[in-house]
Amino acid sequence: MHQDTTRTAQDLLDADLVSSEQAVAIDQVVKEFSMAVTPDMMELIDFNEPADPIAQQFIPSTKELNILPEELADPIGDFPHTPVKGIVHRYPDRVLLKTIHVCPVYCRFCFRREVVGNDGEGLSPQELESALDYIRNHPEIWEVILTGGDPMILSKPKLHSIIQALDQVDHVGIIRIHTRVPVVDPGRIDQEVAQILRVSKPVYMAIHTNHPKEFSETACSAIATLADAGIPLVSQTVLLKGINNDPETLTRLFRLIVRNRIKPYYLHHGDFAKGTSHFRTTIQEGQALMRALRGKISGLCQPTYVLDIPGGYGKVPIGPNYLQKQEDNQYYVEDPWSQAHLYPPKD
Ligand SMILES: *Cc1c(COP(=O)(O)O)cnc(C)c1O
Ligand code: SF4
Repeated sequence: MHQDTTRTAQDLLDADLVSSEQAVAIDQVVKEFSMAVTPDMMELIDFNEPADPIAQQFIPSTKELNILPEELADPIGDFPHTPVKGIVHRYPDRVLLKTIHVCPVYCRFCFRREVVGNDGEGLSPQELESALDYIRNHPEIWEVILTGGDPMILSKPKLHSIIQALDQVDHVGIIRIHTRVPVVDPGRIDQEVAQILRVSKPVYMAIHTNHPKEFSETACSAIATLADAGIPLVSQTVLLKGINNDPETLTRLFRLIVRNRIKPYYLHHGDFAKGTSHFRTTIQEGQALMRALRGKISGLCQPTYVLDIPGGYGKVPIGPNYLQKQEDNQYYVEDPWSQAHLYPPKD
């Protein structure tokens, strides 16, 4: 049976999943920020559970209409680093290539929510060619990161031609794809897609996933298709209040990620995207969560906790910190059980 993506309050009402009052509220939010929930994600939602971790990520809430003064339209500062349309060149050796502005789902906490959406425009063929020319003309670019939007919803011929074009640029060492598709729309991943990603240069995939419940059987088999094809997989997770901000959920999530042959890469502190304050934790809480994982679960299961500094200043690890400098090049270093030790040791 073919099902469509849920895009409007009316769709939810028609499916008898919300009350008409809720539908009016949702409609108000959707006017500001696009909504999309794939059939795969709809299936995972328990609509009788107000705190359902999937519903909270994808079903609009009127809390999003609460916009704080510090919440910025461009929270991670992409605009000042855009030399040509579709390129973000913030770090010397790597660029983002944003070919498309649509996603299979719209995460309610998205840091690019001002630019992604159903009415967002992608690159025209000429604009794509200019973006590729920028990459060709800048030999310092070692890595190209396809993002958006979600590049894995490009048509296969389009994806194929972009990957081929990048593979042919001598100075490009690796290609990376940032996507949510293997988890939220796993039916798009098949052998043909895996073949498209097998080129002479390594194509890494960074999969965005935030909760253990996202690992359905179909998601796991899509991920296995990619891993079997030899695509190195890493994950990105956003720290989200009420969804994954407890050690037990993060432990299950990072273990599931590793069990599925994905290396946890980043745990992102929530950005100042408009109307997302109900999802943000404090940095102190994030550090306490990371501390709770260190030593207790495998090192393979540990991501780096990072903050994208507002204004476009880059991503940096934000702890926790285990090292304290003393005088004379001596340090105190804390072990995973909070005991401090002098380094180098004194006898
Ligand atoms: C996040 C980001 C990258 C990738 O950063 P890594 O630390 O290499 O994962 C590159 N460019 C921009 C503009 C980014 O926001
Ligand atoms: S998939 Fe990524 S870009 Fe798309 S809405 Fe979610 S967070 Fe934003």
